[in-house]
Amino acid sequence: MAEAPDIQKEENTDGTIEKMMQMKPFRHFDSHGHAGLEKEGIADRPGCIDFWCGNSVVARTMMGARAMLGDPNPFSVITKAEECPELSAAVFVKSMDEANIEGMCLQSIHGVTDPFPGYPDGWKWYVPNEYTKKAFIDAYPGRFTAVGGVHARYGAEAAVEMVISAHECGFPGIKFHTATAGYPNQKEMYPAYEKLVELGMHAQFHTGCEELPGTRTKYQNPEHLDDVGMDFPDLKILQLHCGIFNNMEMGLWNVMKHENMYTDIVIPVPTLMRFRQYFDMEHIRFLEFFMPDKVFYGTDYPMTLPFYKAMLDNIMLMPISQEFKHKLTGDNFRKFVNWESKE
Ligand SMILES: [Zn+2]
Repeated sequence: MAEAPDIQKEENTDGTIEKMMQMKPFRHFDSHGHAGLEKEGIADRPGCIDFWCGNSVVARTMMGARAMLGDPNPFSVITKAEECPELSAAVFVKSMDEANIEGMCLQSIHGVTDPFPGYPDGWKWYVPNEYTKKAFIDAYPGRFTAVGGVHARYGAEAAVEMVISAHECGFPGIKFHTATAGYPNQKEMYPAYEKLVELGMHAQFHTGCEELPGTRTKYQNPEHLDDVGMDFPDLKILQLHCGIFNNMEMGLWNVMKHENMYTDIVIPVPTLMRFRQYFDMEHIRFLEFFMPDKVFYGTDYPMTLPFYKAMLDNIMLMPISQEFKHKLTGDNFRKFVNWESKE
C-alpha cells in the first residue's frame, strides 16, 4: 500500500512564533445601535431628547451612560438639550475600537404612537435617514451601515416613500418600530413590504417590550410577525429582541418556522432587561443548536455604553463553540447585509 503524502508536515514548516504572528483578532459586528441621541442638534430630532431628559424609565436607564460621558451628577433629572451629555459619532467609534468591533448597523427611526393623555397626536420619534448617513456613514467610512425608519401612520403611499428614501441613502433595509407604529401585519404596510422585495432590501421589526412614551405592548408580540413571514416569503426579516419579556417562545418559533426570519440577542433599553439574553446559557445554547446561522449580536448602543466591551467579553468567554461565537458576533450579520469590509 502506497504511503499517503505527508501534507501535515509540509504545512507545519513555520515555527510557533511565525504562526502566532499570523493570528489576527476576530473583528466583531454590532447589528443594532441607535443614531440620534448625540448632543449636537438633538432638539431637532423629535423624541431623542426624551431618552436623556425627564424622570422616566428610559431617562433613568441612561444615567449610566451619562456617568461614562462625564456627567458629575448623573442621577439628577435633566430637562434641557444643553444638559445632555457630550455624545457624538466619535464616541461611538471609540467604543467600537475598544471592543474590537468593525462595524455597527444604526437604526434610523420613524415612529408615531397612538394618542394618549398629554399627546393627542401621539409621541413622535424621528431620526432622519439623511442624518444617520451624513453624521455616521459618510463621516466614518467602513464603520457604519443603517436601516431607515418606516411606518404607515400617514398612509400606505407614505410608507412606500419611506422605503424609497432608505434605498436612496444606500441602506440595506428598513426598521418598523412596532412599539410606536402599530401591528407589523397591518395591511397599510403591505405595499411597503412589496417595495422592499422589489428593491432587494430587508425589514427589521421591533418585538418584545418597550418603555418609551406612548408605546403599546400588544403591537410588539412576535405572533403578529408570523403573518408577514407567511405573506412575504421572499422578504428577509430580522425580528429584533426576539420577543423578550413579551413572548420569547414565539420569537424563537418564528425563526425556526420561517426560512426568511432571523433574530438577535439585543435587549431593549431598561437595565433590568439586560440579563436574560446575554447571560442565560440555556438560551444561548438553544440558539447555537437550532439557529446558529440566523442569530445576530447587537447592543442597542448607546444605551449599553457603560458595559459595551464587557458584554462582548462575556459572550466570548462562554462555553459555546468558537465557530458559533464568530457567527453570532460578526459573520452572520455581515452575510445578512452583504457587508464588504474596507479593512
Ligand atoms: Zn434599539
